[in-house]
Amino acid sequence: MNRKTFIGASSIVGASLLANVGKAVSSSRPLPVSSALTLPRLSELRRLAICIPGEHAVGLNVTKVADAVRPANVVVKGHEAQQMMTLARTVYQLEYADGTVMIDSGMDLETHRTFGKTEEPFYPENFETVQEALLQAKLILFTHYHADHTAGVIRSPHFDKIAHKVWLTRDTADLLLHHPHKETVHIAEDRLNRFVVADFSNCLPLAPGLVIWKTPGHTTDSKMLYIRLQDGQEFIHSVDSGWSMQNILEMKMKNASWVKENETQLLEQYRWLNEIMSENPKLTVLCTHDNEQYERLRADGILGSTLHTAASQTKR
Ligand SMILES: [Zn+2]
Ligand SMILES: [Zn+2]
Repeated sequence: MNRKTFIGASSIVGASLLANVGKAVSSSRPLPVSSALTLPRLSELRRLAICIPGEHAVGLNVTKVADAVRPANVVVKGHEAQQMMTLARTVYQLEYADGTVMIDSGMDLETHRTFGKTEEPFYPENFETVQEALLQAKLILFTHYHADHTAGVIRSPHFDKIAHKVWLTRDTADLLLHHPHKETVHIAEDRLNRFVVADFSNCLPLAPGLVIWKTPGHTTDSKMLYIRLQDGQEFIHSVDSGWSMQNILEMKMKNASWVKENETQLLEQYRWLNEIMSENPKLTVLCTHDNEQYERLRADGILGSTLHTAASQTKR
């Protein structure tokens, strides 16, 4: 399939998917991830972002449920071993005039405690807000199967009320089922089949101004997101491709023994992101765990500094 027919097919899948949100689609066949996946052009992402009719989101909000503190040379190869670096466990929310889309779900305290060797900061109030936001969301996306992104749903006290609107791909579903990242996020098949399990080839428009595509590298099921807001602000959410923007900007890998990543694919993604940033200085590349970026973009008003919920609305 050439690039043009491929994009056309993706758009049709996107439209039919939207019609099917709320119904779990089960497939017993795992989706093979092609190593030949090419990164999309920004022009293609922009085109796909307007495929689904409707107003674009009015804001992109973020919060963090926890922090991890790691030596800088574990986060970025070649950095100082004595210097410590804070990694934020963030959750993003795309806010439309008539509802919200959650991007990942953070994790609960018990799951948080399975990371790291010492007790690290956890923010229970923010986690409560995430739970409220999940309950009120129209759609909840999983970018990949890791516990710091999925435990907020899998271990949610509201699981029965939110399961029908959780969207994930077949490969993420298979990993959650057969290779759970942590003991705490083990999920039974009947519960997982209540999610919307989707298959697509490469790029998929999911909602007005929101496109998702496959970027295996950090994990085999990793994806990135393109977001365009009503005011024209553009973002590429690079998810966990880097743990810090420094991985991306300096083209340096993580250096943690427990992380098994595909270096070739990640370096290609870093190169691609750098090219987009240099050609589009107004576009913001997001990085899930970069705490410095989390603080700065909230302070600058580029990201909303808390998630939108009915409760936060009355406080405004
Ligand atoms: Zn991850
Ligand atoms: Zn992560």
